[in-house]
Amino acid sequence: MTVGTSRRTRPRSGLRPLERLTKRDVEGLWGVLFDIDDTLTTRGRLPACAYSALWALKESGLRLIPITGRPAGWCDHMARMWPVDAVVGENGAFYFFYDAQAGKLRKRYLADEDQRRENRRRLRAVWEEIRTRVPGVALASDQHYREADLAVDYCEDVPHAGWEAVEEIVGIFRAHGAHCKVSSIHVNGWFGDYDKRRTAQLLARELFGIPEEVLRRRAVFCGDSPNDEPMFAAFELSVGVANVTRFASRMEHLPAFVTSSAGGEGFAELAQKILSLLPS
Ligand SMILES: [Mg+2]
Repeated sequence: MTVGTSRRTRPRSGLRPLERLTKRDVEGLWGVLFDIDDTLTTRGRLPACAYSALWALKESGLRLIPITGRPAGWCDHMARMWPVDAVVGENGAFYFFYDAQAGKLRKRYLADEDQRRENRRRLRAVWEEIRTRVPGVALASDQHYREADLAVDYCEDVPHAGWEAVEEIVGIFRAHGAHCKVSSIHVNGWFGDYDKRRTAQLLARELFGIPEEVLRRRAVFCGDSPNDEPMFAAFELSVGVANVTRFASRMEHLPAFVTSSAGGEGFAELAQKILSLLPS
């Protein structure tokens, strides 16, 4: 397994089996933050066990916050209808939450409207270059519902374009000065100094008055791929669903624990484990 040399925050004892999670680990737990694709879903679908797990966690009194690269259009739906307290979308470009008292959806963006418009103009130029230089990839099907990032599909609705293509896309984003992350289906790129971790921390502080160091100890983060790395690094209780192991050699920050099942079944396994350890 190849490991970068700059990893500082977590000893190399990551990927412990989830069964080793203890009561003490979840003592005082505040909430569960989680990725969506291939973490809550399995092969692109949301299994009943994963959605039920959300309700069970919610009913236990825990806060639930999806942290995803998915677009604003999807996040609008999730924030309104799912048993969640807020949603971070487009790799940290914003968070949305449903204000039940007012009966309104609230949207908090990291960049203002003019800046987002300018960023979209720059991203169109990046896409033109990717489109002409990298064969076999496509604009993601959910690009129309995005407000802040460019999502390049390398295996969701196109045959897997290969890791060389992924590397080339990453190189093009970087050459344009954009940030980018590789998810299990897309390469996402954006202009702006934010990521999933920073926006999750901002949300916890602004909505719940929870400072970064408290969030780090009192929330679990569950994810599956390299675009979750800032989150794996930022939480003491980080958990990967089993499929995270296929990316392990490409990742610097591994999760502390790993489930035995993949995708949504892995998330349900985590929920069950947490609920079995919480005081009744
Ligand atoms: Mg994912």
